[in-house]
Amino acid sequence: MTDAVTKSDFARMIAGAAAAIRAQHAMLSDLDCASGDGDHGATMLRAVDRLEAAFGPGGPEDLKTCLENAGWNVLGVDGGASSSLLGVFFGGMADARACSAPADASGLAAIFEAGLAALRKQTKAQPGDKTMMDALVPAVAALRAAADAGKSVSEALCDAAAAARAGAEATRNFTARYGRAKFLGEKTRGHADPGATSMGLLFEGFYEGFNNLKGESGNA
Ligand code: ADP
Ligand code: MG
Repeated sequence: MTDAVTKSDFARMIAGAAAAIRAQHAMLSDLDCASGDGDHGATMLRAVDRLEAAFGPGGPEDLKTCLENAGWNVLGVDGGASSSLLGVFFGGMADARACSAPADASGLAAIFEAGLAALRKQTKAQPGDKTMMDALVPAVAALRAAADAGKSVSEALCDAAAAARAGAEATRNFTARYGRAKFLGEKTRGHADPGATSMGLLFEGFYEGFNNLKGESGNA
């Protein structure tokens, strides 16, 4: 069995992520009402539309160019902090050498690590600060750990989704220190961070998209 991630696998992961966000955008905006300005669901809807466009039919075939386009597309979303940060994250993935060749679980981890490295140049937020980093950092670490343990791409994505979800859930107990939510500080306790929650949904969607849709397309 070949266990490489191709552009079309990535396109399915993005489609899965888009479906997860579309199903939950109202909940994301509700969370953002508690700690921000209530626009996070709408911003994420625009972001996933643009992510999908970068991987759509008729576009470039190589993963690197698709990721570069995805980054620029999301950066162009008229949204808040999250769209700028997500644009840098997806665009940063294109820096990974692994995206110039079909990647296995280790290559997939390297692609996500490159995105995280780019994002870390934009924000000093760490896990515990109640931001998207609370979901993203453990998810990327889980991808790497799974790859190092010799797991398949699907298993690695499953582990990453679980880690992202757990990281997002944990933000409920934290006090916001970055973004608009920091002005509410202690008042954000008891509410999950919107950006961490959407990151959890993206990773759940990556896993679902990689598996379900791969089966549906026949995999011949
Ligand atoms: P805005 O706050 O500009 O309205 P969104 O509502 O779309 O943007 O996104 C808010 C989310 O963005 C937060 O829940 C948080 O996860 C993330 N975020 C905001 N600022 C930062 C930052 N400096 N570093 C990391 N994540 C951030
Ligand atoms: Mg907002």
